[in-house]
Amino acid sequence: MKSFASRMARLGTETAFEVLAQARALEAQGRDVVHLEIGEPDFDTPAHVTTAATEALRTGHTHYVPASGIRDLRAAIAEEVARTRGIPVAPEQVVVTPGGKPILFFSILALVNEGDEVIYPNPGFPIYESVIRFVGAQAVPLPLREERQFGVDVDELARLITPRTRMVILNSPANPTGGVLGEKQLRAIADLALRHDLWVLSDEIYSRILYDGSCPSITRFPGLPERTILLDGFSKTFAMTGWRLGYGVMNREVAQALERLMINSNSCTAAFTQVAGVQALRGDQEPVRRMVEEFRRRRDFVVDGLNRIPGVRCLKPQGAFYVFPNITGTGYASPELSKLLLHEAGVATLSGTAFGSFGEGFLRLSYAASMESLKKGLERIQGCLARATAGSRG
Ligand code: PLP
Repeated sequence: MKSFASRMARLGTETAFEVLAQARALEAQGRDVVHLEIGEPDFDTPAHVTTAATEALRTGHTHYVPASGIRDLRAAIAEEVARTRGIPVAPEQVVVTPGGKPILFFSILALVNEGDEVIYPNPGFPIYESVIRFVGAQAVPLPLREERQFGVDVDELARLITPRTRMVILNSPANPTGGVLGEKQLRAIADLALRHDLWVLSDEIYSRILYDGSCPSITRFPGLPERTILLDGFSKTFAMTGWRLGYGVMNREVAQALERLMINSNSCTAAFTQVAGVQALRGDQEPVRRMVEEFRRRRDFVVDGLNRIPGVRCLKPQGAFYVFPNITGTGYASPELSKLLLHEAGVATLSGTAFGSFGEGFLRLSYAASMESLKKGLERIQGCLARATAGSRG
């Protein structure tokens, strides 16, 4: 029988989609499941954005457009990134892609050789490790520890850098921890990137979902914009996960390389979604503000609720819409507890290990779910753990 190309054995996946499928299978058998596994806002896309898309379809935005994105959207993104990050950005530095994910995939494909080393956050978005390994590079985990509020230990990062290190990946605010990298840490990381001539992939997809303080971008430090690929997009900020609209900002040469990868893969991002993207960036921002306020309310509720459950402790995340409670006090390993909660309590969560080996001892819960779901989910988790403890005692 014909076999797959060997690189396929190195390609990972996102467990969230697998857990969702298992939860749906249970629902098909009549079980009620509370979904706390999904990483997407439960809000509708703002109405003015949807209206712009339908209007674009009606007025003929139904054909191929330039591979890097339509001019208006690249200009709007350049303005937005220049304003929010405090750096000059030209439209030619912007590449629009179907979601933010292709920016991650293409950057690694374009900039990392086989045998290079790439340092990536662990626990972190699982696609980093997957794509690094897929291109034949070595994935070097940078542990994010609870005792450091899931920030980066810069001395540890410095020790991980070798002559083969090609790129370092940052994600702030972070999935799955909700942690935010502060100015001091970023400055030290920027110094290391300059000293060792590294590329930086700065995944800032949650940049607008921020509750306390500010979330600086590493691009604010001199010399960094030239070597950084800044990833952002519309999925999270504007509740547009299904639209597939994201972008990267990078130097012009890298932008041309990514354009070539777009030509070889997607041809372009859907035209009418890009027209709507201009509206999302330039139109009313009140829906975003309201969504983030609601996420803040839920964050506080979930963190308090989790901290009341014996054996569980949870830091208050500064951004994104996830909590990453420490569950070591329950006596369960993370994958085991996640399975128990799904099958015994009807609560879908993700094991911390779905985000790398340093995620052991944690679960990820998304609070992009209604207050009723969150309330029900917490009650069920508490009940399930109480029964399990009573059972082991009896
Ligand atoms: N980066 C991180 C950290 C994410 O959590 C996600 C989505 O879950 C993405 C990138 C990709 O988002 P999208 O491709 O939907 O824009």
